[in-house]
This record gives sequence, structure tokens and C-alpha cells, in this order.
Amino acid sequence: MSYYFGEQSWPQLEEAIRKNTLVIIPVGTTEEHGRHLPVETDAIIAKMYGDAIADALTKEDIHVLLTRPIYYGYSMNIVTRWPGTLKIRTRVFMDYIYDMISALMKQGFKKVALLDCHGNHDGLLRTVMREIADEHDNFICTLAPSKLSRPVYNKLKKDPEGDIHGGEWETSMVLAYRPELVNTAEYTQVDAIKCNNELRGPVSTWGLQETKTGLFGDPTYATAELGKACLEAGTAASVRILKQFMERV
Ligand SMILES: [Zn+2]
Repeated sequence: MSYYFGEQSWPQLEEAIRKNTLVIIPVGTTEEHGRHLPVETDAIIAKMYGDAIADALTKEDIHVLLTRPIYYGYSMNIVTRWPGTLKIRTRVFMDYIYDMISALMKQGFKKVALLDCHGNHDGLLRTVMREIADEHDNFICTLAPSKLSRPVYNKLKKDPEGDIHGGEWETSMVLAYRPELVNTAEYTQVDAIKCNNELRGPVSTWGLQETKTGLFGDPTYATAELGKACLEAGTAASVRILKQFMERV
């Protein structure tokens, strides 16, 4: 049986509510990712993780439904310098996600998990998580599979400086899933990261280094193997956390 939320009939959803089914919402966005990656990169990664996590949980006999990815969200103005960034204002984005979850809860779903697959959404999604708890007295789960894959990424990566936007990591993820969408002829090193210091974190990285082509990293190191390893690691860690969420919260 399909685990896609939108492929169920309402009687099937009624049954899913009765079984206390987990609803997973992968959250990506659409924004420029340099000259070599598609603008849907974050949404593609959200779908990769959503499918892999739903698959793994289903195999462990956990009732799960997966919504289609959220394709549009908040991006900083810096990335609107290039075509393809469909910027949604923070409050509109938060209200949209809030209303989706609120609707699920009014129908009787109690378990909801957001997969955060876009760097600019972390604070926004966590605020929605708190607002939902205030309103519905029900704690949802917000996790970022890519952050959970970091130990494996740090072990395997070839770029000592890492990746922020469209470099080794993100390019590897798309190479692992939709290689035909990666234009390797457009790889460039002009936006390799040079701002790794104590300010990275306390200050948005976009404010620490100017980007020339919309990238923040070096895609020339990317491989499909790295993407597959990060997908597996992020999926395994997410599954472990979601199983605990289903049992304990
Ligand atoms: Zn991205």
C-alpha cells in the first residue's frame, strides 16, 4: 500500500488516524543553487529523505504517511540576485506550515514530524513546533536529516572547508538521486569557502563571504557515493529518533 498521504482515500485516512499514524512533512524550498544545480535542490533532497525514511519506518511496521514536499519557503535576499528563488515571507511560510499541521490535528492525527531540509528554515520550523504545542497541547518532532548525517559526511568529505550551499555535499546528494540534473560542465571553485572561523554560526555565513555565482562551497569534490552515504546515515539517525518519538512523546 502507498504511504503517500495524498494517495489515500478519506476512509483510509480515517483508519490511519485510528492507528495513530505518523505524518511526515518534508520541507525543502526553491532557490538558486549556482550554475550547475537545479533550483529545486532542497526540495529534491527533502523528497529523497522523506521517501527513504518512510520506507524504512514502514519496513519496521510503524504506521507512516508522507506528504509531498513543501517546495517553496523563505530565502534571504542575497540568493534572489539570480533567477529561480521564489521567496516566501517568513510569517506567510510559518502560517502555511502551522495551518497544515493544525488541520491534521483537528482531524485526529497526533504524531507529526517535519523534515527540515533548508538552512534558512531552522528557527522558523522550531517556532511553529512551539506554537503548535501551545495551541494543541501536542509536541510535534522537527529534525534535520542532513545535520544528523554530519558525522559520516565529516568522515568522508574531501573538501576540508565543508559545504554551505551547492558545494560538495549538496551536489553529491543530487548526483546520488538525479544525476541528470547536475551540469558538471558548470562546476566552479570561485566560491570555495574561506570564512571558517569563530564567526561562522554566530553570524549568517552569507554575511561573512561574498558569493560570485550563488554558491558557498566547492562542487568539484562531489561524488554520488558521498551522497548515498549521507542519505543512508541521515535516514538511519532520523528513523532511530522517530521510533523514540512514537514510543515516548
Ligand atoms: Zn540547498
